[in-house]
Amino acid sequence: VAKGRGSGQVEVFDEDASHRSRDRLDLRSELLLARDRGQLHLAYQPIFALDSRAIVAFEALLRWTHPHHGNVPPDVFIPLAEESGAIVEIGQWVMEQACRQLAQWHRLPEGRGLGMSVNLSPVQLHQAHAAERTLGVIRAAGLHPADIWLEITEHSYLRHEVTQYASALGAAGVHLVLDDFGTAYSNLSYLKRLPIEILKIDKSFVSGVTGGHLDISIVRAILAIADSLGLVAIAEGIETEEQRTTLRGLGCRLGQGYLLSRPLPAAQAGLLLRPQEQMPARARNAR
Ligand code: C2E
Ligand code: MG
Ligand code: MG
Ligand code: MG
Repeated sequence: VAKGRGSGQVEVFDEDASHRSRDRLDLRSELLLARDRGQLHLAYQPIFALDSRAIVAFEALLRWTHPHHGNVPPDVFIPLAEESGAIVEIGQWVMEQACRQLAQWHRLPEGRGLGMSVNLSPVQLHQAHAAERTLGVIRAAGLHPADIWLEITEHSYLRHEVTQYASALGAAGVHLVLDDFGTAYSNLSYLKRLPIEILKIDKSFVSGVTGGHLDISIVRAILAIADSLGLVAIAEGIETEEQRTTLRGLGCRLGQGYLLSRPLPAAQAGLLLRPQEQMPARARNAR
């Protein structure tokens, strides 16, 4: 029974303890069924160079269009997919779709050198040979590991698996992104343990960057950390021109947010690509 958590509800989200484990199974099969029935798709949000507005990469964001409940937001179904274990297969599917789409864009002159950023759930790392499987998917699409950015937000569990997996992929050339940087799940100690190359400044700081000294100071501090460690910073959740200008002024080179573009279906996202002549060097040289 759906209970007051907004519109994106399905019955299997029932919190009743006696039904939980059965519901988890239901959700697991429902999500996998949703995939098989074409109810899952990826939206792509561009990551821009803030000065030239060139697109350096897209972030793949999972969408579920439920036949009765409409658009179920990932913040609702990803945690449930993690609990049910469905995220292992769904995550693999996301990687396959994202790689296939990027390979398609790479065949266009204006898509050359473009990156694809994929969100990773630590639960996916439960499976054996997770790193090899991910690299297998990337190569099967005809891509190089360096075409892929992997966004990590860690939970306190599974640290060892995350470290092993991320180190293996980093060594193969995949760019590791620390998502939601500055929040509880994403902290400085990862910078020591993982070969992170890119920091995403959490949108909670970006939204306040024009409002007061505190958020500006935090963003400035994050940019200083990135700079001194030789990392690239991306500001996420840029919604106003004033935020974009302020972030540029603080020295942030890359950003994404509704101001620049919402996450889009593949066909529309592809239309944003511009001929390569207008492109500066992509991500690595963008700092
Ligand atoms: P995230 O990785 O931090 O993604 C950024 C979220 O911010 C996305 O929400 C995006 O649509 C939203 N966003 C982008 N620009 C703006 C803006 O200007 N303002 C505001 N308010 N929001 C903005 P979305 O797509 O609902 O995804 C939510 C979260 O779900 C993601 O946060 C990510 O943690 C998770 N997620 C999405 N797709 C996947 C996936 O394929 N696998 C995994 N494991 N997690 C995913
Ligand atoms: Mg992300
Ligand atoms: Mg995230
Ligand atoms: Mg984020």
